[in-house]
Amino acid sequence: MEKTIFQKIIDRELEADIVFENKNIIAFKDINAIAPVHILIVPKKYIDSINSLQSEDKEIIGEMFIVAKDLAKELKIDESGYRTVFNTNDDAGQTVYHIHLHLIGGRKLDWPPG
Ligand code: AMP
Repeated sequence: MEKTIFQKIIDRELEADIVFENKNIIAFKDINAIAPVHILIVPKKYIDSINSLQSEDKEIIGEMFIVAKDLAKELKIDESGYRTVFNTNDDAGQTVYHIHLHLIGGRKLDWPPG
């Protein structure tokens, strides 16, 4: 199977602006940021979409949110506010089929999304 872009970033075959990494997770700046803060939080375990989640993935999903809130604090958007989003499949605009949590903030965000 062809590696996803995010797998190539995890394997250091592709450069990214990495802001956090531990044994389970990598987080880097979105190349097409839609806000002053736009970070992708990616598990090193390959899971193609939220539709493929298994109960054994509970911990990794929880850890992704802990990383998100820690980064939000570090980047000083915890008080002003931010959005955490998983896009799933076509209607939601998923383009990379390796799950990732978007952390978006640093400006007023519209709701509902388009
Ligand atoms: P999604 O549409 O939810 O699948 O999000 C995929 C995100 O990955 C988009 O916001 C892209 O801008 C971002 N992206 C694609 N390629 C790269 C890359 N090489 N480095 C960083 N972000 C990327």
